[in-house]
Amino acid sequence: MNKLVLIGPPGAGKGTQAKMLSIKYQIPHISTGDILRENINRNTDLGRRAELFIERGQLVPDVLVLEIVLDRLHFEDCKAGYILDGFPRNLSQALELNKILSSEGEQLSAAILIDADRDSIIRRITGRRQCESCGAIYHIEEPSAEKAGICDKCGSEIIQRKDDHEKIVKKRLEVYEEQTQPLITYYDKLNILHRIDGHGGIDQIFNEICGLLQ
Ligand code: ADP
Repeated sequence: MNKLVLIGPPGAGKGTQAKMLSIKYQIPHISTGDILRENINRNTDLGRRAELFIERGQLVPDVLVLEIVLDRLHFEDCKAGYILDGFPRNLSQALELNKILSSEGEQLSAAILIDADRDSIIRRITGRRQCESCGAIYHIEEPSAEKAGICDKCGSEIIQRKDDHEKIVKKRLEVYEEQTQPLITYYDKLNILHRIDGHGGIDQIFNEICGLLQ
């Protein structure tokens, strides 16, 4: 168990679980969404090219995303394995990843699908707020520092992601159903798919994932 892919609709909890798995198994958490947002914040060429797609809830073109992933997978810390969160997101990205791995005599250890229903997703994402500096996640229904608009972990401002507004969330869900869901069948056929119910508590889901990775 060292090369993992997390798939699932937006807001299913992939990022949260990936961070916890990264600590437990001491392997890097690679989130293409985080890398793209970081580039937008730093106003890089890549960030400027990706921004319009993200704000509309569309996928960023494969060529940009593949460049990021290819580059990141060659970092020294990926030798022991990694957790890919938000990549691959369509069949051509999955085939490309497979090609990269096969050329190095490697393969994915598991693809973990964290699933959740449409209503829970919309409620979770539209109420989600994020620290613009450290990325800590809050929810408007939880009593927390979010009310004051200040992150209790690092003291920076807490904001709502532009693509977390309801209209864009619905678009992201459409894109997920059309482009990402086919990966479920793809990884199932490769016999590496594991399905996890994303409606449970964070710790319960984490224990379930760790259990299946044993
Ligand atoms: P979520 O999983 O909650 O939708 P992410 O942070 O993973 O959020 O992604 C946010 C946005 O970044 C996506 O809607 C998409 O525009 C872009 N993005 C992230 N990963 C990819 C990818 N592998 N391919 C294309 N676009 C991506």
